Amino acid sequence: MKKEPVKVKEASPEIRVGNFEEVVKGYSEEEALLEASRCLQCKNPLCSSGCPVGIDIKKFIYHITQKDYRSAYFAIREKSNFPSICGRVCPAEYQCRKACILTKKGSPFASEQAINIHFLERFAGDYGKNNNLDVPVEKEEKFFKFKVAVVGSGPAGLCCAGELARKGIKVDIFESLHKTGGVLRYGIPPFRLPWDVLDFEINYLKKLGVSFVTNFLVGKAKTIKELFAQGYSKIFLGLGAGVPSFLGIGGENLCNIYSVNEFLTRVNLMSAYKFPEFHTPVNIGKNVLIIGGGNTAMDSARVALRLQKLKGLPLNTTIVYRRTEIEMPARRLEIEHAREEGVKFEFLVAPKEFIGDEKGFVKKLICLRSKLGEPDSSGRRRPVIIEGSEFELDCDLCVIAVGLKANQILINATPELKTDKYSDVIVDSETMESSIKGVFAGGDIVGGEGTVIEAMGMAKKASKAIIDEFSK
Ligand SMILES: Cc1cc2nc3c(=O)[nH]c(=O)nc-3n(C[C@H](O)[C@H](O)[C@H](O)COP(=O)(O)OP(=O)(O)OC[C@H]3O[C@@H](n4cnc5c(N)ncnc54)[C@H](O)[C@@H]3O)c2cc1C
Repeated sequence: MKKEPVKVKEASPEIRVGNFEEVVKGYSEEEALLEASRCLQCKNPLCSSGCPVGIDIKKFIYHITQKDYRSAYFAIREKSNFPSICGRVCPAEYQCRKACILTKKGSPFASEQAINIHFLERFAGDYGKNNNLDVPVEKEEKFFKFKVAVVGSGPAGLCCAGELARKGIKVDIFESLHKTGGVLRYGIPPFRLPWDVLDFEINYLKKLGVSFVTNFLVGKAKTIKELFAQGYSKIFLGLGAGVPSFLGIGGENLCNIYSVNEFLTRVNLMSAYKFPEFHTPVNIGKNVLIIGGGNTAMDSARVALRLQKLKGLPLNTTIVYRRTEIEMPARRLEIEHAREEGVKFEFLVAPKEFIGDEKGFVKKLICLRSKLGEPDSSGRRRPVIIEGSEFELDCDLCVIAVGLKANQILINATPELKTDKYSDVIVDSETMESSIKGVFAGGDIVGGEGTVIEAMGMAKKASKAIIDEFSK
């Protein structure tokens, strides 16, 4: 008899919209066993080909069916450093689940019938975390003399540091912000990725001997040359893509129009949602517009809704997107969650101009309706403006979430570092070494805005190349 997918427990939309607690509760042991038993254990599994780091999915799911959760955890850890994180944030519907044999051929994303690989990964990851299962350290004396500087403490930097430290290499991570974790801390809200899950991974690195230097902007406080002079043999750059894109339309400088970075950083990193207990305010209003269709837009909308609720305002947050739902790059789960919580959607709408009040605060967004035309370079159908379709949306707070670009400060301070037309660092695709010998890079600073698992995949390649060089 065909087994139906096991639904994961979630906090109800009415309750969760009033707090920042984790929404998806994860599988119980019984649920994980049931879901794992649906896996067909294909002779030639396709799922692993959909995973950017090639986790042996068949193997770890098999271990779960045998109740051998320890082996399941270690099977994932062979390829992925942060299963509890990836099990929560990976866009599985575009990756492993899309490649699952149970997904219908030609589907733009995973079918519902596809195995819930991400929830099983989270189950195994949390088992490892809750039982303090550390991956065996393989420290070798020959590495003790080497010191590596990692710039940036996002998933790329953390993953690279962990791989090197496990071998006995001394690693110092330099982070410009006052807290570590990169987007995992300041971007992704805690109702998707609780901070204790991230802290667990960071503490593990500290146990391995990695040290963290926060409030340290490499490129200003110290240059790459100065780090080498200080005794670091290699440097890994995991700078990320933290520079926001804007729409370039009239009125964009009005008050209460935030870039997605500023909005999420204020709330997540600077606890704006606890104002006045914490000093950073967000002027959340009655009519919030979020422009964009990616994860950043979805996170901003769900955060805005929670702020409206905490302030006792009616829930009125709308996502404005120029294509349709199918073309939205956000994870399907996030779109579903946003909708359940009450986020509204205006599809096929292009912003034209912001209008402000006499004090310089935004009060309206003039928009144009569009229809879909031919596909563009991204493969998605291009929105085409419908002439004479102008209309207005009320707006007293707007978040622009239309893309992020490479962090520039270190790049500008290092002219020898070759970059491409997007200002992303150019690297050798096998070793991740940049145009400067001994300087490696990975994550969003190389590929542009990507995913956590892709950032980790690049960091793993770089750490392997560094270890190989130290082994010569
Ligand atoms: C709001 C949001 C939601 C997302 N949701 C998802 C999701 O659900 N799933 C998913 O897979 N991906 C998601 N992503 C993308 C994912 O988070 C990124 O691809 C990933 O974090 C990239 O990792 P990274 O280590 O390259 O960079 P980052 O995470 O950006 O970390 C870079 C770090 O480097 C620091 N830094 C930069 N320059 C310097 C310098 N000169 N000196 C010192 N420190 C420096 C920065 O402060 C930052 O802490 C999301 C991104 C955002 C913004």
